[in-house]
Amino acid sequence: MVAPFVHDVPASRVVFANGSLARVADELERLNCRRTVLVAGGPEAVYADIVAELLGPTVVARFSDVVMHVPIAVAQQVVDVARTSEADSVIAVGGGSSIGAAKAVAKEMGLPILAIPTTYAGSEMTPIWGLTEGNRKTTGRDPKVLPRTVLYDPELTVSLPPAISAASGMNALAHLVEGLYAPGLSPISALQAEEGVRALASALPRVVEDPADLSARGDALYGAWLAGWTLGTTGMGVHHKICHTLGGAFDLPHAPTHSAVLPYATAFNEAAAPEAMAAITRALAAAGMSDESAAAGLWRLADRIGAPTSLKEVGFTPSMVDEAAEIVVAAQPINPRPVDLDGTRALLLAAYDGTKPGAWE
Ligand code: NAD
Repeated sequence: MVAPFVHDVPASRVVFANGSLARVADELERLNCRRTVLVAGGPEAVYADIVAELLGPTVVARFSDVVMHVPIAVAQQVVDVARTSEADSVIAVGGGSSIGAAKAVAKEMGLPILAIPTTYAGSEMTPIWGLTEGNRKTTGRDPKVLPRTVLYDPELTVSLPPAISAASGMNALAHLVEGLYAPGLSPISALQAEEGVRALASALPRVVEDPADLSARGDALYGAWLAGWTLGTTGMGVHHKICHTLGGAFDLPHAPTHSAVLPYATAFNEAAAPEAMAAITRALAAAGMSDESAAAGLWRLADRIGAPTSLKEVGFTPSMVDEAAEIVVAAQPINPRPVDLDGTRALLLAAYDGTKPGAWE
């Protein structure tokens, strides 16, 4: 019998096509918006330049000082820009950092977001905001910050360097893996999450091999859409709590940290979430990445695409283990296996070491 579930899905409009960037004016019109702040930093701002050209005077201000994890000061700056320019909307072009800045505006002022993602982080599909104050990152859910419209244009991801593509893809896989064992999982999100694992595991090796392969880029972005959707509609467990802790407290890089931790968080939950493990294993096998366990398969995928497989590669040291474990355990993430100090320390040490799981525990 089907297990009881709640399927509560906030609405957003998704347009997925090569060249969909060109539809931005029509899509903004659809939202009935006439004064927009364009948020984009980094090399992907070249795509925002195209948006600015297409929209002309509708772009009343631009904000380019985006910073990962949205420090409070940056959130305040972008809100000030939106207020003083009397904007009625925000367009974010870029990865989770640009979309995070746009979400700060939506959270404060309720303005609709049109998101044009250029990485696989998935923030565009979630009602989750994040803000950092000092060395602590806070996240929360608010329907106001879910982008109203998302334009997925695989052509914009061709310039994403292979190393960032690989780590960002592992970040997306983490949303899918944790969604598959989250209490908020519904039969539909389970299907979506399994399909997302398959799509990413099959696309990422091709993306890394040939970053200009538009078909691989499209498949990876499709997987990223499903991953963002899964994160937004289900929940997060020990893996995301560890990654947020390591990012907030020790300034470890977001996507590479996800990549290094994911196989070990999956192994940590292996015995407590057999159905999720079966779904991940099936999806990896469908993508030609089968291994002795879900955790081993994820490790093998990360290794194959050159994404980090150990925390030592991303700046973590054993001296950080105790403090990190204490923060994670104090937060008591909802997770299939109870999150205690000994287990979390062992998980962190295994991820630090980077030995392929399967040999671990
Ligand atoms: P990011 O936006 O900082 O992008 C990573 C790097 O890739 C940057 O240097 C950027 O300039 C570059 N880049 C992006 N697109 C490019 C392109 N097409 N071509 C060339 N370079 C490009 O990082 P991210 O990993 O996308 O997002 C991480 C942030 O998003 C974190 O703050 C994380 O907490 C947040 N996040 C939030 C959610 C959510 O639901 N709220 C979900 C996932 C991630």
